[in-house]
Amino acid sequence: MEFQCAVMCRLCLSKNDCFFSIFLVNKKCGYIPAIVISELLAVQVSETDGYPHVICLPCLDKLTDYKSFKEQCLAARSNFDKSFNSSSLLQGTVRVLPI
Ligand SMILES: [Zn+2]
Repeated sequence: MEFQCAVMCRLCLSKNDCFFSIFLVNKKCGYIPAIVISELLAVQVSETDGYPHVICLPCLDKLTDYKSFKEQCLAARSNFDKSFNSSSLLQGTVRVLPI
């Protein structure tokens, strides 16, 4: 099966009218989508890999949500590490509720 990659979203294969390049800084979100795609999928992304160079708006929004969530998690971990040392973690008790 052969796809027309130039008119298809790289991430969902949709054929929308509006696409965004993944290799340019996106003005809507302020980052280069290819970098986030690479991090999310743990794969290399390049202009010569044969896959479409564009993504649709819903996928761009999902990437932005993912990127924000990842940054939030890393910031929380960093703040947690700054706020608590190993001895303070051992002093408190945590009540785990049954599911
Ligand atoms: Zn898409």
